[in-house]
Amino acid sequence: MNTVSSLLDDSWRERYRRISALNIRSSIYDVTNQCNLRCRGCFFYSSREHEAASEEMDLQKWHEFVGNEKARGVNLAILIGGEPTLHLDRVAAFYQTMPTYCATNGQIKVPRDRFPDMMVGISLWGDEEDEKVLRGKNTFAVSSKNYEGDPYTYYLYTITPKQLGRIGQVIRKIDDAGLKVHLQLLTNDEQVDGYSWTEEKMRDVRLEMDEMLECYPQTVISCKYYHEIITTGKMMGRSFGWSECPSVTELLDSRNPRPKRLIRFTRWASDLKTQHRCCTSATRDCGTCKDGAAHMSWVMVNKREHLKSAKDLQNWIEVYEMFAKLYRFIPW
Ligand code: SF4
Ligand code: SF4
Repeated sequence: MNTVSSLLDDSWRERYRRISALNIRSSIYDVTNQCNLRCRGCFFYSSREHEAASEEMDLQKWHEFVGNEKARGVNLAILIGGEPTLHLDRVAAFYQTMPTYCATNGQIKVPRDRFPDMMVGISLWGDEEDEKVLRGKNTFAVSSKNYEGDPYTYYLYTITPKQLGRIGQVIRKIDDAGLKVHLQLLTNDEQVDGYSWTEEKMRDVRLEMDEMLECYPQTVISCKYYHEIITTGKMMGRSFGWSECPSVTELLDSRNPRPKRLIRFTRWASDLKTQHRCCTSATRDCGTCKDGAAHMSWVMVNKREHLKSAKDLQNWIEVYEMFAKLYRFIPW
């Protein structure tokens, strides 16, 4: 039987040792139901999750809640919304207690004197043209000024089918702003015309993502195995979907048999009581889900499957490293 030691040489063994010491336990929190944009295809609004619960307004309750989450074993808080920067006091309750990542549209700058090393991920849905169609404005013009050169910020670039052949232009602008970028794919939750994927487009976007990684290795935080997994939805002959997804809230996970999953993972609504089904939306068809974090986690929780060969295990390590870099558990 293959083991980690038998498959890896010294340098890969060292990389493996570094990530296996991390023991990341993440959960996701809706900081607010409000947002200063309304993007077409936003899973939060299109699934009406903003109406699932009313926001907890008592700041003291947020502090108590975060303390309980820490005691529950969570060591990475992923803040989403709505737009978390509309409620910085709530963000601070997390940041003061545990490693925290804040997903934002970048229109409001996180004050660095108050949150010096908080990881910030700015959503970007394409170039100026796409952003205007899908989000109503060129968000990059504002977010890139707000965060230029910030060492704790990267763009979470959601590639749409319309971006094929034009991804490089966007990456170059991000590189020019002195920022990093991670790539994921649009799930067309609101069926906007022209924004759905076909198999052919998936093949093309995979090649383009690989090319970007080769052209901008210092800027793009990614790896080719992730590109393969997210564009094909296949891993070791298995297909991604409800029966495989690792990012389902633990208490709501009634699947039988239960797949390998994120331990203690929960996605909380902003009343701090309601739990959502998963890291995206309860109304999304899992068969079309292209959520990047769920695909990454799918690889990460299936280490044993990757003990088939040295290459498989190296692929697994690269995905794990990518995840750890995105949340700054290891340096870029
Ligand atoms: S900025 Fe984010 S939360 Fe706000 S509408 Fe757009 S996708 Fe949704
Ligand atoms: S929508 Fe995506 S993230 Fe949610 S359960 Fe389905 S596959 Fe998983």
